[in-house]
Amino acid sequence: MSNSENLLEVVGLKKYFKTPKGMLHAVDDVSFTIGKGKTLGVVGESGCGKSTTGRAILRLLEPTGGKVLFEGEDVARLNTNALRKKRKEMQIIFQDPFSSLNPRKTISQTIEEPLVLHGMIPDKKKRQQRVAELMDTVGLARRLYNTYPHELDGGRRQRVGIARALAVDPKFIVCDEPVSALDVSIQAQILNLMKNLQKEFGLTYLFITHDLSVVYHFSDDIAVMYLGKLIEKASADDLFAAPKHPYTKALLSAIPVPSLHDRGERIIMKGEITSPINPKPACRFEGRCPSAMDCCRAAEPKLVEVAPGHATACFLHSDARQGE
Ligand code: SF4
Repeated sequence: MSNSENLLEVVGLKKYFKTPKGMLHAVDDVSFTIGKGKTLGVVGESGCGKSTTGRAILRLLEPTGGKVLFEGEDVARLNTNALRKKRKEMQIIFQDPFSSLNPRKTISQTIEEPLVLHGMIPDKKKRQQRVAELMDTVGLARRLYNTYPHELDGGRRQRVGIARALAVDPKFIVCDEPVSALDVSIQAQILNLMKNLQKEFGLTYLFITHDLSVVYHFSDDIAVMYLGKLIEKASADDLFAAPKHPYTKALLSAIPVPSLHDRGERIIMKGEITSPINPKPACRFEGRCPSAMDCCRAAEPKLVEVAPGHATACFLHSDARQGE
């Protein structure tokens, strides 16, 4: 796990949604830290709560509970005015650049928008100059200044999304599946751009994805989520070399890239998925876990460190029992 000074500390974050059937625990008691200038990858299947976690950190969704300490200040408790100012430092890049861009605005207007919103660079000419520089930074030709989103391909549209996020000089960016909607050939270009920008501007990323091979190459540390719970976290190398949780092992066994590590035989997950609505105090993976024991149905394993810098929530690891 990174030892550098933390930019973000998330403590016991919860986001519940009321549904006709009960309370849906989309994010349930999730805690982690991200060091300055580092990337934490968050992986898991669709519906595991990874995107909700990113949005709750930024308060695009109001957290139900927990703390989000950004440079020591709890974002979850900021009033509207203070939150508006803080948003300059915490930005988001969305999965689908097409639907996240206003089709009626030119790309220069889109990139300029946060500068206007935050009252930065009041002089119009200087602001337009800044927009042109941002386009240079993300590799968008200046001839595209007055084009509309529908005139661009997916990669360029995502570059617009990145320029818009960078416009206000953020320190932290939630990258929510930023390359999932792009062709494979374009994905590498966007990931390289994001890596270079991270180095150049000292950015800290929360990188949300369902793609394990992408997360391995992009992240310093990785957190694995399952049904609203964080069930394993470690450095990217440790997680791939020695996964601890049966769910992580099953996910990794499915990666079709033999060169990463020897994945062994593919583990097919069978059984019933536990409902995240009013969940019982049990392991949420119990219904699909090939190693489930009686204790897994009677209590919920806590996330505990089972090797230096490597934590998991599973009763198979004796240390995890101490968290009961
Ligand atoms: Fe499987 Fe039990 Fe570990 Fe849950 S706690 S992952 S059910 S062995």
